[in-house]
Amino acid sequence: MAPGNGLVSHAAALTVASDLSFVEVVRESSGQDVRTCYYCQKCTAGCPTAFVMDRKPAQLLRLIQLGERERVLGSTTVWMCIGCETCGTRCPNEIRLAPVMDALRQMALDEGYPPETAVYSLHRSFLDSIRRWGRMHEVSMLAEFKTRELLTEHPVFFRGLLSDVKLGADLLLSGKLSLLPDRIQGLEEIRALFEEAAVASSSETESEERG
Ligand code: SF4
Ligand code: SF4
Repeated sequence: MAPGNGLVSHAAALTVASDLSFVEVVRESSGQDVRTCYYCQKCTAGCPTAFVMDRKPAQLLRLIQLGERERVLGSTTVWMCIGCETCGTRCPNEIRLAPVMDALRQMALDEGYPPETAVYSLHRSFLDSIRRWGRMHEVSMLAEFKTRELLTEHPVFFRGLLSDVKLGADLLLSGKLSLLPDRIQGLEEIRALFEEAAVASSSETESEERG
Protein backbone atom coordinates (compact mmCIF):
# COMPACT_ATOMS: atom_id res chain seq x y z
CA MET A 1 0.00 0.00 0.00
CA ALA A 2 1.30 3.50 -0.84
CA PRO A 3 2.15 5.57 2.27
CA GLY A 4 -0.33 8.25 1.25
CA ASN A 5 -3.19 5.75 1.20
CA GLY A 6 -2.35 4.55 4.69
CA LEU A 7 -2.40 8.10 6.05
CA VAL A 8 -5.72 8.87 4.40
CA SER A 9 -7.41 5.72 5.71
CA HIS A 10 -6.01 6.29 9.22
CA ALA A 11 -7.28 9.90 9.23
CA ALA A 12 -10.70 8.72 8.07
CA ALA A 13 -10.85 6.06 10.79
CA LEU A 14 -9.89 8.64 13.42
CA THR A 15 -12.64 11.00 12.27
CA VAL A 16 -15.28 8.28 12.38
CA ALA A 17 -14.24 6.74 15.72
CA SER A 18 -13.23 9.86 17.69
CA ASP A 19 -15.42 11.17 20.47
CA LEU A 20 -13.78 14.38 21.62
CA SER A 21 -16.09 14.69 24.64
CA PHE A 22 -14.67 11.42 25.95
CA VAL A 23 -11.68 13.06 27.66
CA GLU A 24 -14.08 15.28 29.63
CA VAL A 25 -16.26 12.33 30.60
CA VAL A 26 -13.20 10.46 31.90
CA ARG A 27 -11.93 13.54 33.73
CA GLU A 28 -15.27 14.07 35.48
CA SER A 29 -15.91 10.44 36.39
CA SER A 30 -12.38 9.73 37.63
CA GLY A 31 -11.49 13.09 39.20
CA GLN A 32 -8.14 12.99 37.32
CA ASP A 33 -7.19 15.69 34.83
CA VAL A 34 -6.16 13.36 32.04
CA ARG A 35 -5.84 16.32 29.64
CA THR A 36 -2.52 17.31 31.27
CA CYS A 37 -0.70 14.08 30.33
CA TYR A 38 2.24 14.89 28.04
CA TYR A 39 3.26 11.30 27.35
CA CYS A 40 6.53 11.13 29.31
CA GLN A 41 5.74 7.43 29.93
CA LYS A 42 6.97 7.37 33.53
CA CYS A 43 3.70 5.63 34.45
CA THR A 44 4.32 2.85 31.93
CA ALA A 45 7.93 2.41 33.05
CA GLY A 46 6.84 1.77 36.66
CA CYS A 47 3.64 -0.19 36.09
CA PRO A 48 3.99 -3.78 37.38
CA THR A 49 1.31 -5.15 35.06
CA ALA A 50 2.16 -3.21 31.87
CA PHE A 51 3.62 -6.40 30.39
CA VAL A 52 0.16 -8.02 30.19
CA MET A 53 -1.67 -4.92 28.90
CA ASP A 54 -2.49 -4.60 25.20
CA ARG A 55 -2.05 -0.80 25.52
CA LYS A 56 0.47 0.54 28.00
CA PRO A 57 -0.84 3.06 30.58
CA ALA A 58 0.59 6.12 28.78
CA GLN A 59 -0.80 4.87 25.45
CA LEU A 60 -4.24 4.54 27.02
CA LEU A 61 -4.02 8.14 28.23
CA ARG A 62 -3.15 9.30 24.72
CA LEU A 63 -6.08 7.35 23.24
CA ILE A 64 -8.40 8.97 25.80
CA GLN A 65 -7.14 12.42 24.75
CA LEU A 66 -7.76 11.50 21.09
CA GLY A 67 -11.33 10.44 21.89
CA GLU A 68 -10.74 6.83 20.85
CA ARG A 69 -13.55 5.61 23.07
CA GLU A 70 -13.98 2.15 21.53
CA ARG A 71 -10.28 1.33 21.61
CA VAL A 72 -10.02 2.45 25.23
CA LEU A 73 -13.10 0.66 26.55
CA GLY A 74 -12.31 -2.48 24.56
CA SER A 75 -8.73 -2.60 25.82
CA THR A 76 -7.48 -5.28 28.22
CA THR A 77 -5.55 -2.53 30.03
CA VAL A 78 -8.57 -1.40 32.05
CA TRP A 79 -8.90 -4.94 33.44
CA MET A 80 -5.20 -5.61 34.04
CA CYS A 81 -4.58 -2.57 36.25
CA ILE A 82 -4.29 -3.73 39.86
CA GLY A 83 -4.75 -0.27 41.36
CA CYS A 84 -1.29 -0.23 42.96
CA GLU A 85 -0.97 3.58 42.55
CA THR A 86 2.67 3.39 41.40
CA CYS A 87 1.86 5.55 38.36
CA GLY A 88 0.29 8.24 40.57
CA THR A 89 3.49 8.54 42.62
CA ARG A 90 5.66 8.82 39.47
CA CYS A 91 3.57 11.13 37.31
CA PRO A 92 4.95 14.71 37.10
CA ASN A 93 1.36 15.90 36.58
CA GLU A 94 -0.01 13.91 39.55
CA ILE A 95 -2.34 11.86 37.39
CA ARG A 96 -3.47 8.74 39.22
CA LEU A 97 -4.44 6.01 36.82
CA ALA A 98 -6.13 3.73 39.40
CA PRO A 99 -9.31 5.88 39.59
CA VAL A 100 -9.15 6.39 35.82
CA MET A 101 -9.18 2.61 35.34
CA ASP A 102 -12.05 2.23 37.86
CA ALA A 103 -14.11 4.74 35.89
CA LEU A 104 -13.24 3.06 32.57
CA ARG A 105 -14.15 -0.39 33.91
CA GLN A 106 -17.57 0.85 35.00
CA MET A 107 -18.10 2.58 31.64
CA ALA A 108 -17.04 -0.57 29.76
CA LEU A 109 -19.55 -2.69 31.71
CA ASP A 110 -22.35 -0.11 31.34
CA GLU A 111 -21.77 0.08 27.59
CA GLY A 112 -21.62 -3.67 27.03
CA TYR A 113 -17.90 -4.12 26.30
CA PRO A 114 -16.95 -7.68 27.25
CA PRO A 115 -14.75 -7.73 30.35
CA GLU A 116 -11.57 -9.74 30.66
CA THR A 117 -13.40 -12.80 32.00
CA ALA A 118 -10.86 -14.15 34.52
CA VAL A 119 -10.27 -10.71 36.03
CA TYR A 120 -13.99 -9.92 36.11
CA SER A 121 -14.78 -13.27 37.74
CA LEU A 122 -12.16 -12.60 40.42
CA HIS A 123 -13.56 -9.09 41.06
CA ARG A 124 -17.12 -10.46 41.41
CA SER A 125 -16.04 -13.33 43.67
CA PHE A 126 -14.04 -10.96 45.90
CA LEU A 127 -16.98 -8.54 46.24
CA ASP A 128 -19.45 -11.39 46.89
CA SER A 129 -17.19 -12.66 49.67
CA ILE A 130 -17.09 -9.22 51.31
CA ARG A 131 -20.88 -8.83 51.00
CA ARG A 132 -21.49 -12.31 52.44
CA TRP A 133 -19.03 -12.34 55.36
CA GLY A 134 -17.86 -8.74 55.72
CA ARG A 135 -14.30 -9.89 54.95
CA MET A 136 -12.59 -12.09 52.46
CA HIS A 137 -12.94 -15.83 52.99
CA GLU A 138 -10.32 -17.23 50.64
CA VAL A 139 -11.66 -20.79 50.33
CA SER A 140 -15.23 -19.89 49.34
CA MET A 141 -14.01 -16.96 47.23
CA LEU A 142 -11.71 -19.20 45.20
CA ALA A 143 -14.43 -21.87 44.89
CA GLU A 144 -16.79 -19.21 43.49
CA PHE A 145 -14.06 -17.88 41.18
CA LYS A 146 -13.29 -21.32 39.77
CA THR A 147 -17.03 -22.05 39.29
CA ARG A 148 -17.60 -18.72 37.52
CA GLU A 149 -14.62 -19.40 35.32
CA LEU A 150 -15.81 -22.90 34.44
CA LEU A 151 -19.08 -21.39 33.16
CA THR A 152 -17.38 -18.91 30.82
CA GLU A 153 -16.76 -19.40 27.14
CA HIS A 154 -12.97 -19.63 27.51
CA PRO A 155 -12.40 -20.99 31.01
CA VAL A 156 -8.99 -20.87 32.62
CA PHE A 157 -10.38 -23.30 35.20
CA PHE A 158 -7.88 -26.06 34.54
CA ARG A 159 -4.90 -23.75 34.20
CA GLY A 160 -2.80 -24.27 37.31
CA LEU A 161 -5.61 -26.22 39.02
CA LEU A 162 -3.33 -28.90 40.48
CA SER A 163 -0.83 -26.40 41.87
CA ASP A 164 -3.75 -24.30 43.24
CA VAL A 165 -5.19 -27.36 45.01
CA LYS A 166 -1.79 -28.29 46.43
CA LEU A 167 -1.13 -24.74 47.61
CA GLY A 168 -4.64 -24.55 49.15
CA ALA A 169 -4.11 -27.86 51.00
CA ASP A 170 -0.70 -26.71 52.31
CA LEU A 171 -2.17 -23.43 53.55
CA LEU A 172 -5.13 -25.20 55.19
CA LEU A 173 -2.85 -27.71 56.92
CA SER A 174 -0.53 -25.01 58.17
CA GLY A 175 -3.49 -23.03 59.56
CA LYS A 176 -2.98 -20.07 57.19
CA LEU A 177 -6.46 -20.58 55.69
CA SER A 178 -9.69 -21.31 57.47
CA LEU A 179 -12.11 -23.82 55.95
CA LEU A 180 -15.13 -22.16 57.53
CA PRO A 181 -15.85 -18.46 57.10
CA ASP A 182 -16.04 -15.95 59.93
CA ARG A 183 -18.66 -13.21 59.82
CA ILE A 184 -17.50 -9.87 61.13
CA GLN A 185 -19.44 -7.78 63.60
CA GLY A 186 -21.18 -4.94 61.80
CA LEU A 187 -21.92 -7.02 58.71
CA GLU A 188 -25.19 -5.13 58.26
CA GLU A 189 -23.23 -1.90 57.80
CA ILE A 190 -21.15 -3.48 55.04
CA ARG A 191 -24.29 -4.74 53.32
CA ALA A 192 -25.87 -1.28 53.61
CA LEU A 193 -22.83 0.14 51.76
CA PHE A 194 -23.34 -2.35 48.93
CA GLU A 195 -27.02 -1.39 48.74
CA GLU A 196 -26.16 2.33 48.69
CA ALA A 197 -23.68 1.75 45.88
CA ALA A 198 -26.28 -0.22 43.88
CA VAL A 199 -28.88 2.55 44.35
CA ALA A 200 -26.35 5.27 43.37
CA SER A 201 -25.33 3.30 40.29
CA SER A 202 -28.93 2.69 39.14
CA SER A 203 -29.93 6.36 39.65
CA GLU A 204 -26.86 7.45 37.63
CA THR A 205 -27.91 5.10 34.82
CA GLU A 206 -31.50 6.43 34.91
CA SER A 207 -30.38 10.08 34.79
CA GLU A 208 -28.00 9.29 31.90
CA GLU A 209 -30.87 7.61 30.02
CA ARG A 210 -33.16 10.63 30.65
CA GLY A 211 -30.44 13.19 29.82
S1 SF4 B 1 3.52 9.74 33.94
FE1 SF4 B 1 1.80 11.18 33.84
S2 SF4 B 1 2.35 12.67 32.25
FE2 SF4 B 1 3.73 10.92 32.03
S3 SF4 B 1 2.71 9.62 30.49
FE3 SF4 B 1 2.06 8.88 32.48
S4 SF4 B 1 0.14 9.97 32.94
FE4 SF4 B 1 1.17 11.06 31.26
S1 SF4 C 1 -2.32 1.78 39.27
FE1 SF4 C 1 -2.65 0.45 37.48
S2 SF4 C 1 -1.79 1.58 35.74
FE2 SF4 C 1 -0.97 2.51 37.63
S3 SF4 C 1 1.00 1.47 37.96
FE3 SF4 C 1 -0.56 0.36 39.16
S4 SF4 C 1 -1.28 -1.27 37.81
FE4 SF4 C 1 -0.18 0.20 36.52
